Amino acid sequence: MSTEKGKIDIKTEDIFPIIKKFLYSDHEIFLRELISNATDATQKLKTLASLGKFSGELGDLTIHIVVDKKKKTITIKDRGIGMTGDEVKKYINQIAFSSAEEFVKKFKTKSEAEHNAIIGHFGLGFYSAFMVSDKVEIRTKTYKKGGSTKAVRWECDGSPNYQLEEIEKDDRGTDVILYIDDENKEFLEDHKINELLNKYCKFLPVPIQFGMEKIQEPVEGKKDKDGNQETKEVERPKIINNPNPLWKKKPSEATDEDYKNFYKELYPYTFEEPLFHIHLNVDYPFNLTGILYFPKVKKDYEMQKNKIQLYSNQVFVTDSVEGIVPDFLTLLHGVIDSPDIPLNVSRSYLQSDGNVKKISNYITKKVADKLEELFKKDREGFEKKWDDIKIFIEYGMISEEKFYEKAEKFALLKNVEGKYFTLDEYQKHIEKTQKNKEKKLVYLYATNQEEQYSYIESATNRGYDVLIMDGVLDNHFINSLEQKLKDSTFARVDSNTIDKIIVKDDEAPSKLDDKQKESLKEVIERNISKETFNIVFENMSESDMPVTITQNEFMRRMKDMEKVGGGGMMMGMGNMPDTYELIVNTNNPVITKIMNEKKADKQDIIVKQLYDLARLAKNLLVGKELNDFVKRNVSEIK
Ligand code: ADP
Repeated sequence: MSTEKGKIDIKTEDIFPIIKKFLYSDHEIFLRELISNATDATQKLKTLASLGKFSGELGDLTIHIVVDKKKKTITIKDRGIGMTGDEVKKYINQIAFSSAEEFVKKFKTKSEAEHNAIIGHFGLGFYSAFMVSDKVEIRTKTYKKGGSTKAVRWECDGSPNYQLEEIEKDDRGTDVILYIDDENKEFLEDHKINELLNKYCKFLPVPIQFGMEKIQEPVEGKKDKDGNQETKEVERPKIINNPNPLWKKKPSEATDEDYKNFYKELYPYTFEEPLFHIHLNVDYPFNLTGILYFPKVKKDYEMQKNKIQLYSNQVFVTDSVEGIVPDFLTLLHGVIDSPDIPLNVSRSYLQSDGNVKKISNYITKKVADKLEELFKKDREGFEKKWDDIKIFIEYGMISEEKFYEKAEKFALLKNVEGKYFTLDEYQKHIEKTQKNKEKKLVYLYATNQEEQYSYIESATNRGYDVLIMDGVLDNHFINSLEQKLKDSTFARVDSNTIDKIIVKDDEAPSKLDDKQKESLKEVIERNISKETFNIVFENMSESDMPVTITQNEFMRRMKDMEKVGGGGMMMGMGNMPDTYELIVNTNNPVITKIMNEKKADKQDIIVKQLYDLARLAKNLLVGKELNDFVKRNVSEIK
């Protein structure tokens, strides 16, 4: 074969400039595409050998990446199946080109916003080389013997013209040589290549070598005076990937230590150890492997989203997995590897794809099963982890019906004493004692054990149980439990006086008659504005506080939900004033004292003091008023 010049059969005009300019923002994927091709070619040869269709030596199959700064080239070198001249014409000039063309066409019709979703996935293939190169050269020799199997060189300068000629090449396989253009010189820097290899090729199944590394090698027969082996520093080619990542192994072959180490390999900059892991391994009805880790979630949990990495046959695809795993699991860390997830499609398509739905359901089920297993095997250990994992479980129970059905067996409620109950256990625990006047079961809760101390105490003194619900999602979780649990309601300890929340049979009679109540009202309203508080008289026991401030459950919850992004119908609630009630216990002796006091100014002093104390207990006394209160009390001591 003499040198053959030809023209690639182009249907779309300007395809090369489009590749160069349009895809500028994501041009780094060229390296992933070319190394993937080299990997495929190597894997194919291995498969042929295992089928007995290739009997030559396989030898060292490492893929080499070589950067020549002087010549401004990057070479990707493999020892895979290679190509004959005819195959180059067929695969590179025709098939690869038309699929690149199709990709570019698709790309042109999509909106700017969708570009990333496409580029982030496969599609452009070999021709992505032209994003960064003036000229691309292929030198390739097929594994086949005989006939027209001589090595060939193909060259194309980014116009539709190509050249093809026979060359001498000793070794089987393909070298792709990129002549990097001036705008993309950064790719000739070692650190840049290292960064890309680390991002896209960390777990490719064939060893990939780039650069050298220094290691300490033992010197044979030499020991120092303490008997320690002597070593010397040597340089050797550096393999940048781990071709056998843990998720490809059988779960039974991996130890806890292996999983911890692999977590470090995935997230070298995270120091916290994961709580536990789930090894995913399924080959029917779809193929999926992976490891998911439950991390310790910090307060700013939004920051920890998007840590799951998605691979397709060990090639990194993306780390934004919305639509593939259910939203509540995007808080997990780890790896999912599946060739069955359609990759070169838009996100909206992904979300409606049947296969993706199945995968998502499978992952949800596996996560639920694992949690159930942990709960059943070691309840104590599960309780210890609860505070860290409850965010996942509550999120899942709120948003996925299927997950709720499984999780209702192991989801825990914690009370203010630090005891844990399953939903069933807790129901039994309060069944006999905590009902409201509609006969609904009342789940009392506090959102802050310190701030709501006096309210908690007044409930526990009566023998009631109080839950602690101080998680970021607890407000939403309470709402969804109220809908799910039959004849049940949740009430925060300060949402009313405890005897109004939970109905007792024996309400105390009032010590005051109507006339006395009328004059008491006058005294109180003289000192406390009706606008801020709705003032209510109640006949409580003598030992209950004379004045208590409560806050309407429904209104408070709406406002709280909006704070954590309740959205929709609650919009605008956040700006509404808080709704408080001031409960006056007509049976408390201090109230009797006010009634017996003849002098109005003395009455005022007591009412003001009671009012301030009630506000203190509800954390409503702040700033100047708190300061005045403190000063007033100090002067009383003197
Ligand atoms: P894809 O890899 O998606 O098929 P590409 O455009 O990347 O598309 O490559 C087109 C074809 O060119 C490949 O299917 C393969 O047949 C051939 N090819 C590309 N790179 C190599 C290589 N390094 N060794 C052997 N064949 C290759």
